[in-house]
Amino acid sequence: MFGRGARRSDNSKYYEVLGVSKNSSQDELKKAYRKSAIKNHPDKGGDPEKFKELAQAYEVLSDPEKRELYDQYGEDALKEGMGGGGGHNPFDIFESFFGGAFGGGGSFRGSRKKKGEDVVHTLRVSLEDLYNGTTKKLSLSRNILCPKCKGKGSKSGASGRCYGCQGTGMRVTTRQIAPGMIQQMQHVCSECRGSGEVITERDRCPQCKGNKITQEKKVLEVNVEKGMLHGQKIVFNAEADEAPDTITGNVIFVLQQKSHSKFRRKSDDLYVEHNLSLTEALCGFQFVLTHLDGRQLQIKSSPGEVIKPGKEFLTLWREM
Ligand SMILES: [Zn+2]
Ligand SMILES: [Zn+2]
Repeated sequence: MFGRGARRSDNSKYYEVLGVSKNSSQDELKKAYRKSAIKNHPDKGGDPEKFKELAQAYEVLSDPEKRELYDQYGEDALKEGMGGGGGHNPFDIFESFFGGAFGGGGSFRGSRKKKGEDVVHTLRVSLEDLYNGTTKKLSLSRNILCPKCKGKGSKSGASGRCYGCQGTGMRVTTRQIAPGMIQQMQHVCSECRGSGEVITERDRCPQCKGNKITQEKKVLEVNVEKGMLHGQKIVFNAEADEAPDTITGNVIFVLQQKSHSKFRRKSDDLYVEHNLSLTEALCGFQFVLTHLDGRQLQIKSSPGEVIKPGKEFLTLWREM
């Protein structure tokens, strides 16, 4: 007998290593690998041999093609299929599984998420708005992670990061071309065709078409509180554009006070200029001033008082 049938080798070891049954689902495989790999990670005092075995078993069984080959013909066939290349670095497999949040430097590394940009808007407000307080409703559109696939881009929930190239899109292979001579070649990853991601057409999320993000229109209620200042910032945490593996930035509104026809503000004081005729200055005056909140204020001189030019008569803000 020729062919692989003649050399059928052990095809249950990988299942035993992961502690799952032969007909376990991808989900069960993932869970089993996750649990054992964390427990056996050398950084956490686990056995490196066992850790390597786990990675190898998971690498094969998580790939439907390799799994089928393994189920049918066993470990030896797989080694042939891989050209004797001995598989991947177990730490790479572990990292690609956990998205790089673990391993390598000998301890848990912090999340490698990048920080998203803050979005800054100017919010023009009147002096009345600042005096009385107001609420402005603003409709903003932004990118959010696709709610259907939770930003994975795939129906199955596969992370999309290519195992073959760790998401870089490129692979380096080395081969010995003569004793003592090694040739190193960099080439576009064949598994993801250089995109760094492997979401098959059939697995693509129908809502975002694999883009991972969609647009959302959102109305933000900006509360301008009484007494707020020109230049003051109102911050909405994590309301800027969302993107995969990114800490969402803030939306920041910077208050910009429009100039007022009558009043000027200096910190918490309001100033109004009023011209008096000579008669009014000498003999007394009264006039009505409409305040920022609509109240009508009677302004009048004290009996017998003579007003000199530039006299600061009354300051009005709040207490009146
Ligand atoms: Zn790739
Ligand atoms: Zn989607």
